[in-house]
Amino acid sequence: MAKITKLDDIVSLCKRRGFIFQSSEIYGGLASCYDYGPLGSELKRNVRNAWWKAVVQMRDDVVGLDCSILMHPLAWKASGHADKFADLVTVCKKCNTRTRVDHLADAPENIEHVKLEVAQAEASNLGKKICPSCGTIGQFGEPMAFKLMFETQMGANAEDSMTVWLRPETAQGIFANFANVLQTTRIKVPFGIAQTGKSFRNEVTTKAFIFRTREFEQAEIEFFCEPGTDEQWWSHWKEERFNWYLNLGIKKDNLRLREHDRDELAHYAKGCVDVEYKFPFGSGDWQELEGIANRTDYDLRQHQRGMRTINSWYENGKDTLKAKLAPEAEDYEKGPLSYFDDEKKKRYIPYVIEPSAGIDRSTLAFLVDAYDEDEANGETRSVLRFHPSLAPIKLGIFPLVKKDGLPEIGTAMYNHLKKYFNCMYDEKSAVGRRYRRQDEAGTPYCVTIDGQTKEDGTVTIRERDSMKQDRISKDQVLTYMREKLDI
Ligand code: ATP
Repeated sequence: MAKITKLDDIVSLCKRRGFIFQSSEIYGGLASCYDYGPLGSELKRNVRNAWWKAVVQMRDDVVGLDCSILMHPLAWKASGHADKFADLVTVCKKCNTRTRVDHLADAPENIEHVKLEVAQAEASNLGKKICPSCGTIGQFGEPMAFKLMFETQMGANAEDSMTVWLRPETAQGIFANFANVLQTTRIKVPFGIAQTGKSFRNEVTTKAFIFRTREFEQAEIEFFCEPGTDEQWWSHWKEERFNWYLNLGIKKDNLRLREHDRDELAHYAKGCVDVEYKFPFGSGDWQELEGIANRTDYDLRQHQRGMRTINSWYENGKDTLKAKLAPEAEDYEKGPLSYFDDEKKKRYIPYVIEPSAGIDRSTLAFLVDAYDEDEANGETRSVLRFHPSLAPIKLGIFPLVKKDGLPEIGTAMYNHLKKYFNCMYDEKSAVGRRYRRQDEAGTPYCVTIDGQTKEDGTVTIRERDSMKQDRISKDQVLTYMREKLDI
């Protein structure tokens, strides 16, 4: 396969190597849903673990959380999702394709048929927009709001039955547990709460493989700080999160930070910056991997209003859409989700910096960025140059031949080392082919056991990228690998 230049290349690479399959493929597939195969599930888990290690394990000021997907519906009223979480969509009159209005690009200036009858479309500023599917310009229907939340019913009988939503982000579970975490830990502001988990959005535009799906995994941090220190913490998180991708091997040329324009910002946000990756598909352009927003004190204040709405919600038959969110209390700064600073003897609602990443989307970026081709022994070699801590398999273990006691040494080593990290034992076919198989899976190291091993207890260890081989004692393999894997 040539270098990856389009989405189809990535999809077929992922399928061939057992990284990602279409969901329900044997039934013809389910649009916009994907399953991670043997290598993909390891890769994705490693991405999630690397995130958790960096933002929770290695920090004294961030704790973890694992919330349920279903929440009290009022949480979504308070957050604004129940009423407003919708995309504006329009349908191309020529080919019937539905597209998000904010995804429509302007037609190039020099195209003649810009002047087609565009009356209705022009009314909604779509006169110059081009259909991404058929290329027709300015032929769009009136934009309509398309609700993004999946809805379901909870409860077996009329009394306790109600409409609930599958969460469209993990963040709200964090806000709802802000007081719980404060009360049950000794943590003080500034501090963060982090969680990973599935989110669901009934996305309009899908055909972008795992870049945009209807069920996806997020990795979010809500970092609570004193108002006035928010700018400083925003800078801190921008740098931290940008470097996380770089430290895990993303090429610097493919990564950038892009600050949102004023008109892109949510009304409550003070600032937002996206970490963007240059994906070789779509418009072949920079696309968001993660957003880092300064959300001010908006969310905690909104949940205080949500808490004040509960009685009227019951009185009105638990109809969340019709419920009216209670006005903000005058002394809201002393409310149940406020924070008391013991040292400064001051009570306030903390500001929030939110780094919000996608595990699937970053897994895709790590995959695309790692793919490479070079030459080995006069042949083209395709290789996934994963950072060792992301690689699905860390070590391949090969006896050079299937006799003379070498497989016994190999399996003993395999049984010992697999307790610490993922290993693959392979004694089939020529050793060159076994190396190639591991290169294609992105395995960073391979150990070969040969005749000399029996004499002096040494093995060769081969590094994937340089293909350089060293001889080390077989008893040193664990220490060697631990150093490389940083574990
Ligand atoms: P977009 O404008 O692209 O729909 P967004 O700005 O609404 O995305 P956020 O709500 O900021 O996205 O979500 C935070 C992160 O969650 C995104 O940066 C992305 O990595 C991930 N994410 C959001 N929606 C999806 C999706 N449908 N599929 C996969 N990942 C997603």
